[in-house]
Amino acid sequence: MGHDRVYNFSAGPAMIPEKVLERAASELLNYGGSGCSVMEMSHRSKEYDAIIVSVEEKLRRIMDIPDSYSVLFLQGGATMQFSMAALNLMGNTGCADYAITGQFSKKASEEAAKFGKVNIAASSKDKNFSYIPRQSELKLDPNASYFHFCMNNTIYGSKWDYIPETEAPLVCDMSSCILSEPVDVTKFGIIYAGAQKNMGPAGLTVVIVRNDLPFCPTDNTPILLSYPEMIKTRSMHNTPPTYGIYLLGLVLDWVEELGGLAEMEKLNRAKAEILYNRLDASKLFKTGIEKPYRSVMNVTFTTGDEALDKQFIDGAKKEGLITLGGHRAVGGMRASIYNAMPIEGVKKLAAYMEKFEAERQ
Ligand SMILES: *Cc1c(COP(=O)(O)O)cnc(C)c1O
Repeated sequence: MGHDRVYNFSAGPAMIPEKVLERAASELLNYGGSGCSVMEMSHRSKEYDAIIVSVEEKLRRIMDIPDSYSVLFLQGGATMQFSMAALNLMGNTGCADYAITGQFSKKASEEAAKFGKVNIAASSKDKNFSYIPRQSELKLDPNASYFHFCMNNTIYGSKWDYIPETEAPLVCDMSSCILSEPVDVTKFGIIYAGAQKNMGPAGLTVVIVRNDLPFCPTDNTPILLSYPEMIKTRSMHNTPPTYGIYLLGLVLDWVEELGGLAEMEKLNRAKAEILYNRLDASKLFKTGIEKPYRSVMNVTFTTGDEALDKQFIDGAKKEGLITLGGHRAVGGMRASIYNAMPIEGVKKLAAYMEKFEAERQ
């Protein structure tokens, strides 16, 4: 890496590919001969329309999104989708199914409970969120308007190893795994993701929504929280996060140049394997996540000794490996190795882990 940059293992906002940042910098003051920055353009201008249309086209191509789905570029983060999904769908039957496999899915269920009855269809809390419940264990409510789950649990470092099969449409938080591997969009009613993990800067939230879902916003639903309104106006009821959308376009160009999502998945698996192999070989570090459910994006581990964990994190920083502290709710370490983390950064971290352990034997 150039520019004296460090390997940043932050869970989000996370690294953005260096090539993307360089291109953004080169276009920052004068975009495509327009004489102004993308940041300074009217979202209703011809120039900006070309940008947002092309970003949507690229995302549809890369993720293979059918025409029966809309792509929305919203604000408010993944957290706003916790409310928006419930506000637009819960009213159909007054209830929805939620699988609780970590903090964010729990937060989503708490938000939904403001708008109707939440049925906890499954939870892995009994074993500290170290596993993913099996399909046969899901206690589905036959009346549910939808089934909500979080594909990759950013904080605990676990991931669903299958897509649940339910009568009700699937609503899925993919904030920390979107674009990391191919996914069959047709299996989902709604996919949403905050951009700051795998897609670009914070402030942009991508929502992929099947047009024929029975949306039921009421007269009291805030206009910006209505999917039908946002679909109708192509995310332009008000000013969309224009610069974040542009940057997403640059990230998508980078993904395509690398070979698309199948190639991305290979790269990501190779990176994760380096760290999990190191953990499995280690006597000092361990991960609490059971093997089939280990996240490819967020690798959590600990020595089991808080003071030693701190030594590890502080020492890593001196090596240019930053933000390795675990989420404040769980402690320990977390290496977030999203698309933009180069494999060299992961190798450097694995080597540092080995050295740290050898010095303490
Ligand atoms: C980061 C994250 C969130 C929260 O995202 P915001 O954009 O800050 O609201 C929600 N869900 C998952 C899975 C995340 O990784």
